Amino acid sequence: MAKVSINLATGSIQKEDIIVGIDLGTTNSLVAFIDPDKNPKVINDTGKGVLVPSVVHFGETGDIKVGNEAKEFLITDPQNTVFSVKRLLGRSYADVKNYQNFFSYKIIDDDSESLVKIKVGDKFYTPIELSGLILKELKERAEHALKTPVNRAVITVPAYFNDSQRHATRDAGKLAGLDVLRIVNEPTAASLAYGIGLNPEETKTIAVYDLGGGTFDVSILQIQNGIFEVLSTNGDTFLGGDDFDRAIADYWIEKNNIDKVALANNRELTQELRLKAEEAKKAFAHQSIFNEKIGDIWCTIDRNTFEELILPKVQQTITSCQNALRDAKLTISDIDEVVMVGGSTRTALVKKMVSEFFGRPVHDDINPDEVVALGAAIQADVLAGNRSDILLLDVTPLSLGIETMGGLMDTIIPRNSKIPTKAGRQYTTSKDGQVNMKIAVYQGERDLIN
Ligand code: ADP
Ligand code: MG
Repeated sequence: MAKVSINLATGSIQKEDIIVGIDLGTTNSLVAFIDPDKNPKVINDTGKGVLVPSVVHFGETGDIKVGNEAKEFLITDPQNTVFSVKRLLGRSYADVKNYQNFFSYKIIDDDSESLVKIKVGDKFYTPIELSGLILKELKERAEHALKTPVNRAVITVPAYFNDSQRHATRDAGKLAGLDVLRIVNEPTAASLAYGIGLNPEETKTIAVYDLGGGTFDVSILQIQNGIFEVLSTNGDTFLGGDDFDRAIADYWIEKNNIDKVALANNRELTQELRLKAEEAKKAFAHQSIFNEKIGDIWCTIDRNTFEELILPKVQQTITSCQNALRDAKLTISDIDEVVMVGGSTRTALVKKMVSEFFGRPVHDDINPDEVVALGAAIQADVLAGNRSDILLLDVTPLSLGIETMGGLMDTIIPRNSKIPTKAGRQYTTSKDGQVNMKIAVYQGERDLIN
């Protein structure tokens, strides 16, 4: 929120501009701020809604559309419509080549070591530029809704993002004209939105379960003295609400005896079925049967059938929770709180199974697709100096070290060190009279560099 400060040199009162919190998501992005009553609030630019689909469309005449308007082109103009760009941020071609088929647009592989580019028409774009376009849209919406310039932001990223991905996110902010004050972990932001970790006296261990459109992750965090330490993360970068939609659509395809080969060539119907399936899934929040038609295709499904269809996927996320606990060397009884994040946690079966697994009620009062942005706004408020009672420190998410003889990684700065930090270590050369040496810096927890 805007605060008043006094310029000590001139004695004049300056109004500082607002700092917003941004959730730059794989499927949806949104922006939040702290309102004059000190409550975090998502920005709803008149008539456009809160969620901005993370989709960018490039028109033939050079016009660029972002969000809902771009989403409409996913089917009619897939080559020129970029979605899920977050999956490519800070990634090299070698990182993404195994799932290239997932994208309908062209990913360029001119050099497998350097960061990927995306080809649209005869132009090349980096994932940073594309994310920058989404951030610019969010910035403009915030400025329009708040009627004030917005130049500073806190942006969230998944806890498992490495340094390259975090840097790319920061650079995307810069391109959008935002000074990115802090990159915050999504699970940390979600906890803050629930007020967990705001009391520096308390020590807590929490699990944050995040099921979005196409990705799932669970993080185990330990909160101590205002520091959020990531003990472990687990998940699946190709599991989410889209799978639930697909399961329903496939069910209808089978029930209506639709020829799969013919359907493969009918993109419009495929898309219509997916959208109808998503509608059915969301309807199960308040009804137990869905019954509609697309032309003469019966789109009927009841909640029990839906739950049977998605059970294996949800079970998979529970296995991830188990693995995350194991990696953190904890058991269920060590977990004090469970926080639900991501639009797909609205599905009743998901809530039920997560709650049963952890043996406690989960935090789900806040809109799960808004909770990360709301927490980011709280973090922004802390950075603006409006909450002097709390101090949220930055830590290195992964260990930093150098390569030593035999390809071993020698950790110099352990993960979760408070930053900025300084460390040094003395090494000897491996050969007598050696005058040169290559110092290779690595990030990660493995003992070997590759
Ligand atoms: P991301 O963090 O990956 O950008 P979101 O958290 O916005 O994604 O989640 C998007 C997903 O949430 C979509 O698959 C959407 O269908 C799903 N979703 C939204 N509302 C509901 C609902 N009421 N019931 C079930 N799923 C929902
Ligand atoms: Mg998300």
